[in-house]
Amino acid sequence: MSRGYNFSAGPAALPEAVLRRAQAELLEWDGVSASVMEVSHRGKDFMAMAQRAEADLRSLMTIPSNYHVLFLQGGATQHFAQIPMNIARRDERADYVVSGDWGEKAVREAGPMVKVHVAATSAANAHTAPPPRDTWDLDPHAAYVHYTPNETIRGVEFMDVPDVGDVPLVADFSSSILSHPVDVSKFGLIYAGAQKNIGAAGLVVVIVRDDLLARSPKDIPKIFSYAEHAANGSLLNTPNTFGWYLSGLVFEWIRDNGGVAEMARRNQAKADMLYGYIDGSGFYRNPVDPAARSRMNVPFTLPDAQLDAAFLRESHDAGLLALKGHKLVGGMRASIYNAMPIEGVRALVDFMRDFARRNG
Ligand code: PMP
Repeated sequence: MSRGYNFSAGPAALPEAVLRRAQAELLEWDGVSASVMEVSHRGKDFMAMAQRAEADLRSLMTIPSNYHVLFLQGGATQHFAQIPMNIARRDERADYVVSGDWGEKAVREAGPMVKVHVAATSAANAHTAPPPRDTWDLDPHAAYVHYTPNETIRGVEFMDVPDVGDVPLVADFSSSILSHPVDVSKFGLIYAGAQKNIGAAGLVVVIVRDDLLARSPKDIPKIFSYAEHAANGSLLNTPNTFGWYLSGLVFEWIRDNGGVAEMARRNQAKADMLYGYIDGSGFYRNPVDPAARSRMNVPFTLPDAQLDAAFLRESHDAGLLALKGHKLVGGMRASIYNAMPIEGVRALVDFMRDFARRNG
């Protein structure tokens, strides 16, 4: 059996070098005569690894010193609710810019915790482009503005960080963190589930500016409080130890492969290759505004949905995995995160060309 090229939207492909290293270290990790999963999270070996991982992430993303980085159990969905719980009062307004399905979910989950105001949404055009900045109805007194830089399902990405004045900007970077350089100082809070560009599912990274940490209310359970997690170095309770370790390996892999700028260069080349082929094919179609096409998630349709089953079967047989689109949009979706090599995209394009020739 050999590994295929895995286009899953998440949990997604990990760099093969990372998996091989984790495999080699699984029984005896770093001279401790046990697996990283079998040692105390308060022991010096784990703590040293955890601090190294944080330092590497800080260096990769140039995170300023007035931000805390939290490595928490769970996923992004939990933080749809936990963010308002921490950085807003229930009677305050929070502005949400909705450019896809995850933004809609963020609105729903925040609802019980804050006065949610949908400042803009691209629902009317089926989220084929983010709502233009000059249409956003923002309140300068809002607790924060929330948006989703990359919408994983429909493949819509903001190419620039929007200017929202002095209101803290909160961003769900689950599907695009570490894929291109971002100026962290423009954000109040960044969060991302790990299972795309960071590591394995079950871990979420929260990067939060210290003035927002200070907003965490004292009367919420400690386990939900960002301030408490920050004060305890994300060791308030047992963290996802293996997930944290694996993230550290991915950070090292990114660093050894030229850092985030090099990831961006490779990601752009992969996206250009795939969109370029789709647009010129006369067979496949991507509905997203070319100026907002995601560099991470590329949805596309075939001219007749009756061909979908054959496409999926034959692509899988060719070692191209998990191309089925999200059920909300149908068709196909190729997710091409950091770990997808350009050879994988080339193999996909070759397959698509051949499939189109045989079925056109
Ligand atoms: N936000 C975005 C942009 C996502 O892509 C996802 C998962 N695909 C989520 C949130 C939800 O993440 P989780 O399942 O880890 O809660």
